[in-house]
Amino acid sequence: MHDLSFILNHLGEERDRYFDAVIPPIVQSAIFAHPDIATMRARLADEFDAHVYTRGNNPTVEIVAKKLAALEGAERALLFGSGAAAIAAGVLANVRAGDQVICVEKPYFWTGQLVRKLLAQFGVRGVFVDAADTDAVAAAITPATRMIVLESPNSLTFEQQDLAAIAALAKARDIVTLVDNSYATPLGQSPIALGIDLVAHSATKYLNGHSDVVAGALCGSEAMLRKVFDGPYMTLGAILSPFDAWLLLRGLRTLAVRLERIAASTAGVLAHLARHPQVRRIHAPVAPHSAQSELSTRQLHHASGLFSIELDVPDIQAVDRFCNALERFLIAASWGGYESLVFPVAGVRDWGSLQAAASVPLNLVRFSIGLEAPEVLIADLERGFAAI
Ligand SMILES: *Cc1c(COP(=O)(O)O)cnc(C)c1O
Repeated sequence: MHDLSFILNHLGEERDRYFDAVIPPIVQSAIFAHPDIATMRARLADEFDAHVYTRGNNPTVEIVAKKLAALEGAERALLFGSGAAAIAAGVLANVRAGDQVICVEKPYFWTGQLVRKLLAQFGVRGVFVDAADTDAVAAAITPATRMIVLESPNSLTFEQQDLAAIAALAKARDIVTLVDNSYATPLGQSPIALGIDLVAHSATKYLNGHSDVVAGALCGSEAMLRKVFDGPYMTLGAILSPFDAWLLLRGLRTLAVRLERIAASTAGVLAHLARHPQVRRIHAPVAPHSAQSELSTRQLHHASGLFSIELDVPDIQAVDRFCNALERFLIAASWGGYESLVFPVAGVRDWGSLQAAASVPLNLVRFSIGLEAPEVLIADLERGFAAI
């Protein structure tokens, strides 16, 4: 086992191969040449481990993959052009017509669309289950169940699933488990150690952390990832470019310090909100009195900077007034960057259908805490409360 700073600063980097440059090069090459035909033949026969074509492998991308695999305690990792691509590839590699996929309720929107719509096009049935209740997952399993797709905590209301218990249920029945670990990052939660097969990330969020790259990753055993590589990875070609991998590598250098700072600031902001008269309820995975605090203690090592509150508002327009009055929180849908963001669920265009599907309250506002001083953010929130 390597220590964290070794992984972030050194693992996967072979400086003697590129002029002892401290920073690895961006190997901006679509193709790799072979010294002779026999070598080309051998490489083509095992493209998973060879340099042939950048849709398969690229040295800059590999550095990041090695680091993410090490961070997750996985044998291998594959990088994708987005988190959505990573999740879709992980699922598509493991299902076929007639299968059933169990998905956690209220997943990331496009994970929901994958299970609800894309899989349905190919005869795979998706069911959504309140997976905070492990018994409900067990009850949903049928002989056709091939996969269980989890997101713990989820990224809007932060319910968690008991990863070890669900992994054990699945293993006994030969069902593949996948968890979206974007909220926690590998520093906050280690699903593979709990028995989960595939760990997916939107690397767009904390892993990159600078809101300048869209990227995804899938971590797991070599056998699992070979299956993904030979299937959706190579056929769909949703790869990460060498340049974006290089930016992601730069983001990763500071992952530990960013998360430390964000966790500390978030605790400060949450403490302020917890005693605020205009806050009806806080949704955060490590809220001290939450029904899931025992589970948090077991599987989630620390909070990150994403949480939601239910505003105490006289009318739904007051949610807009609150958000519009903020000067430091930018109004945006993503999260995990250096900058603080606010995302009101009421700002979603297709709100009516979303609410019907997911029973998320209209007064819910999600925040992503960035690297600003917490006092600055608290003062900004007070601007918002004053505008209600
Ligand atoms: C953003 C997000 C995704 C999708 O990632 P992209 O990189 O935007 O494709 C998946 N899961 C969660 C929880 C997310 O927040």
